[in-house]
Amino acid sequence: MKTVVVWFKTDLRITDNEALLKAVSQNESVIPVYCFDDSDFAVTAYGFKKTGDFRAQFLMESLIDLDTNLRALGSGLLILKGKPEIEIPKVVKHYKAAKVYAKREVAFEEKCTENLVQSELWKLQCEFLTFSTSTLYHAEDLPFSIKNIPDVFTDFRKKTERDSTVRIAYEKPENIKSPEIPELDLPNLRQLGLNEISLDSRAAFGFIGGESQALKRLNYYFFESQSVLTYKDTRNGMTGPDYSSKFSSWLALGCISPRFIYQELKRYESLYTANESTYWLVFELLWRDYFRFMMKKYRNSFFQKNGLKNTDSAVAKIDFQKLQNWIEGKTGVDFIDANMIELRLTGFMSNRGRQNAASYLCNDLALDWRYGAAYFEQQLIDYDVCSNWGNWAYLAGVGNDPRGSRYFNIERQAKDYDKNKVFRNLWLKD
Ligand code: FAD
Repeated sequence: MKTVVVWFKTDLRITDNEALLKAVSQNESVIPVYCFDDSDFAVTAYGFKKTGDFRAQFLMESLIDLDTNLRALGSGLLILKGKPEIEIPKVVKHYKAAKVYAKREVAFEEKCTENLVQSELWKLQCEFLTFSTSTLYHAEDLPFSIKNIPDVFTDFRKKTERDSTVRIAYEKPENIKSPEIPELDLPNLRQLGLNEISLDSRAAFGFIGGESQALKRLNYYFFESQSVLTYKDTRNGMTGPDYSSKFSSWLALGCISPRFIYQELKRYESLYTANESTYWLVFELLWRDYFRFMMKKYRNSFFQKNGLKNTDSAVAKIDFQKLQNWIEGKTGVDFIDANMIELRLTGFMSNRGRQNAASYLCNDLALDWRYGAAYFEQQLIDYDVCSNWGNWAYLAGVGNDPRGSRYFNIERQAKDYDKNKVFRNLWLKD
């Protein structure tokens, strides 16, 4: 009887999970595992935690939901604690597993861990199979090789839309055969060096982790409220739950796949209507793909001060007092401060807020952009290595922006996007 391991990482779902479905359909018995890696909770070179309270809470909820969904199919989630390159081979040895199935990584540190696991498994003559499961367009279906992907987003988007198609999402497995999986044993936030969170009543949205909640939100945003029909007009909003989809946190942990979202959007369009707004959601998902493919193309350049540029163009200065004021929402610029307070107290900030807060740090405060990116990494519930560092590099003028540096006139932005100060009053009034 062939037993295999499925190593869940940022693909915490059972629907449209190629690694899981293939493991189940090609083998007799499957052991789903998740590994708490200490380095995911360590402090980075910039002095921030890699994972902050909000995302850790969302992760726990997502794991509980995944375990519940796996148990409903006859399996469960085995929790490991320690280095994946040590813990995964231990499970392989214990269960005499022949293969390990997992999501394929693109970013530098994640790829290093993947390589370490692979070489340890190789010593055990255990096959390691990885699958590209997190983008809308599959890397193999792009009309160019990774090294030839256009650096300008519009070129990438137009050619991809014209010459490629989105694959059909995989069904969830009907059942899973597993040896008995012990009860879910999660660490609590304190054991991870973090604090329990309580939701600020002003939060735009109450994020709860897990595939079930992701599907609920999708159903609400597309079919119940039909908010997707006005997405293009509302997406630059800053208050309330429905100005944008709020899919990002579930996408970041892989509780839902972009292909499944796309498929449901097409179903919505065939049942109701297609308009500029329904298209625009796909347009934004293409930005997400683009940063992922750019990370694949340029590897760890996205984490360097000069990013993709060969010249020494980026600011390297750091003034910790200014940085702290920015973090705490005490810069004296009300639009920035309101956004930064929202991020500190809720783990979320709108896209409009992020663009302004990042531009302000890079251009007005003239601080090293990587500190801003690292703070976002700690704080955001929806932190995604490619989208975060890619967007930051872009705004710092060391990424893919053909226009070079992108300066936002904060006063103008505040007037355009928070004309009646509703957002600022929400976060700045005692
Ligand atoms: P919607 O407007 O509903 O968009 C739908 C989806 O499209 C999003 O869920 C997201 O997956 C994708 N998307 C939208 N805009 C972008 C974009 N600019 N880049 C990449 N994908 C996009 N997004 C993250 O998911 N994780 C991050 O860590 C992250 N860091 C960011 C840092 C900065 C400095 C900036 C300017 C943007 C960042 N974004 C990040 C992109 C964007 O702000 C968020 O995806 C969006 O605000 C999430 O809310 P939503 O799901 O309601 O978005």
